Amino acid sequence: MLDTIKKTLKSQQSLSNKKEKKLLKYLNSQDIDIEKRTALLRIQTEVLKALHDSLYSRGFIQLMPVILSPITDPLNHSVYDASIHYSKQQLQLTKSMILHKQLALSMSRAEGIYIVSPNVRLETEEKEQSLRHLLEFSQVDIELRHASQNDFMTLMENVIVEVLKHVKSQCQAELAVFESNLIIPSRPFPRYSSESAFNRYGRDFEQILSDTEKSLFWITDYKREFYDKEDPNRPGHYINYDLFYPEGFNEALSGGEREYEYEVILRKLKERNQDPSAFSSYLKFAKKGKLFPSAGGGLGVERLLRFITKQANIADVCLFPKVPGEKIIF
Ligand code: AMP
Ligand code: MG
Repeated sequence: MLDTIKKTLKSQQSLSNKKEKKLLKYLNSQDIDIEKRTALLRIQTEVLKALHDSLYSRGFIQLMPVILSPITDPLNHSVYDASIHYSKQQLQLTKSMILHKQLALSMSRAEGIYIVSPNVRLETEEKEQSLRHLLEFSQVDIELRHASQNDFMTLMENVIVEVLKHVKSQCQAELAVFESNLIIPSRPFPRYSSESAFNRYGRDFEQILSDTEKSLFWITDYKREFYDKEDPNRPGHYINYDLFYPEGFNEALSGGEREYEYEVILRKLKERNQDPSAFSSYLKFAKKGKLFPSAGGGLGVERLLRFITKQANIADVCLFPKVPGEKIIF
């Protein structure tokens, strides 16, 4: 198949065209990497199976992803807007399913839910340098009704250890292709607060800890989007967490306990200069008292594959990578 495409391209004798040269270079790299890509896809399949099995065995309900909606995670960190105008409505491409996860818990009696959720985030071009950002990626997005921060962190420690054990036992040959020595972390994972880590290591505390820690670890208490719960006993502190990989691989998951009370949500939107009308259907739901306390988080699938296969660049664990600032080929 690749050979046919390459022959066709050559025969067109239009390779002075920069675009086609780039495509040919890409297709050649596909040849070189075919063994690695096959191993990668096997590992990816086992990772997803183990995640499904692990959540299924605990009674979690799987939801289908939402791709288009008038509401999505605000995540106002990019200058680009992934929205579509359709039939007099402005629709957003999903950045994360956080708001829909809260709504789904309210619309059903499910105790725990998860979605393998494709996210589109039009990250700014300089994010290419991080080697861990894509414009399109997937997260396993999980939410647990009436759960605490501690409940969710313990759940994820168990799930991750189960997934890593499964991959280690089922993918020995594939891991060898990547020369990956997968170490199964012991539980509980170390926990640091962002404040103490900042005081000790300065602004770059996440990367420094990721470079130096021997195991996966948590950092708690980040000021961020309105939906993460602010500690009512310690205003200015947040009941949320990020999970990090060791060996410099940085962030794996973000999550938190959630706000569910209308007045609190409205106040926090205003504090963040966010227009409440952009969330009107969600806010109507909250105003009727229909949101429940919950805790959850989203685990990046490509980031997990990057860690398991020890690849420096996240683009190398994707068949069709969408790298910030780079031309999209497929
Ligand atoms: P967030 O809630 O924004 O932290 O996203 C949840 C998880 O998705 C993160 O912890 C990462 O593992 C992953 N993730 C977030 N943004 C990206 C991105 N641009 N490219 C790849 N993975 C991402
Ligand atoms: Mg995050």
